[in-house]
Amino acid sequence: MKKYDFIIAGGGMAGLSLAYYLSLSPLRDRSILILDKETKSRNDRTWCFWEDKDGPFESILFRKWNTVEFFGTTFNGLLDIGDYQYKMLRGIDFYAFMKNHLAQFPSIEFRQVTVNRVKDTPQGGFVIADDEPYIADFVFDSTHALKLNRPENHNLWQHFKGWTISTEKPCFDVEKPCMMDFRVDQQGDCRFLYILPFDERTALVEYTIFNNQLLSDEQYETALLTYIDRFVDTGGYSVQETEFGIIPMSDEPTNERPGKHVVRIGTAGGYTKPSTGYTFQRTQRYLQEIVQNLVAEGKPKRHKPWIRRVFKRFLDSVLLNVLEYRRHPADDIFTRLYERNPPVQIFRFLDEDTTFAEDLKIMTTVPLGAFTIAALDVFRKRIFPGLVRKPPVS
Ligand SMILES: Cc1cc2nc3c(=O)[nH]c(=O)nc-3n(C[C@H](O)[C@H](O)[C@H](O)COP(=O)(O)OP(=O)(O)OC[C@H]3O[C@@H](n4cnc5c(N)ncnc54)[C@H](O)[C@@H]3O)c2cc1C
Repeated sequence: MKKYDFIIAGGGMAGLSLAYYLSLSPLRDRSILILDKETKSRNDRTWCFWEDKDGPFESILFRKWNTVEFFGTTFNGLLDIGDYQYKMLRGIDFYAFMKNHLAQFPSIEFRQVTVNRVKDTPQGGFVIADDEPYIADFVFDSTHALKLNRPENHNLWQHFKGWTISTEKPCFDVEKPCMMDFRVDQQGDCRFLYILPFDERTALVEYTIFNNQLLSDEQYETALLTYIDRFVDTGGYSVQETEFGIIPMSDEPTNERPGKHVVRIGTAGGYTKPSTGYTFQRTQRYLQEIVQNLVAEGKPKRHKPWIRRVFKRFLDSVLLNVLEYRRHPADDIFTRLYERNPPVQIFRFLDEDTTFAEDLKIMTTVPLGAFTIAALDVFRKRIFPGLVRKPPVS
């Protein structure tokens, strides 16, 4: 059996990004096998993220904006995002770019197979896919399905349904995407719409919820219909494309290194920011770090000061606790955050680039009572996991 240097199980966002960074590094001639059950030829998702400089996918961005709109409880308006740009990348463009780029490297192979098993062995990372065995020095696995159900943790979902609509009347301002619009019935949860305009008559309108209960298709669609009828003067519209997604918002520890030769990456590696669901940019950062360490030390590890990581994760847990136990209306929390802090600072905070002092300053702008109770509850849940009070179900 041929032994590869690297096997990438799952050639989606994280797997292809990892292959890309390897191909740009001194490891570009190493043998790499990418396994995925799909051909990745559908526009199955859209990624949005912010950046304050050009990033690796600048040439394939579908749109980018210099400002974003926000509709909250006591504050509406355009956010000054400074040097940041809000960027949108379509899945289909990302997959095509990656396939094109990686095809230049004869040492990179693709196989369309279903991965049945990934295992660490003394000889290397071992994979069974469509009953065939494969082995490599390291297996990077993004196919592992997370099971997040520990009661002492907070396990919410970010779930959303979106329509790309084409309207009769010109009704979108192409310079103004709406990042969060809370003018929808919250029903005790965190619910908002966002709008990404492509031109005056076309936009992706997405209904998003943070809670612990998925909706029926009909419920997402009713919310989209109601919002569009109420707030967008379309003159009539048709739905061109539909997007649906579920992203874990959880502080349950994930096992990023299940073995010496196996590394989980992307959502499977716990790369999602628990309190926001944003995964794209963190995955890019973490994978670049892994490749740097592979080049420098031959080991796929990530560094981060321990205390800082624990504190950031604690802040995530506190917000999740507030949301899960409905300690304060979520629309008001996000409104306060964007109204009372420079939006640039919130972006840095969500990227985990703020200092301890900056984090504390931001924390003074949230409802202190609710967040203090939540912080105490996070400790209590960790210390007495048997005494966990069930969160309300939506
Ligand atoms: C619709 C949608 C929109 C999103 N929008 C954003 C956003 O705007 N911003 C953001 O930061 N994050 C967003 N996310 C979250 C996150 O960025 C994406 O889910 C991202 O694709 C995760 O990357 P990944 O590589 O971990 O998983 P994926 O991209 O899903 O890749 C996993 C790959 O593994 C393959 N696979 C799975 N099981 C097997 C198997 N058994 N055998 C073989 N292959 C297998 C799949 O076919 C897939 O190609 C979104 C998620 C969704 C679903």
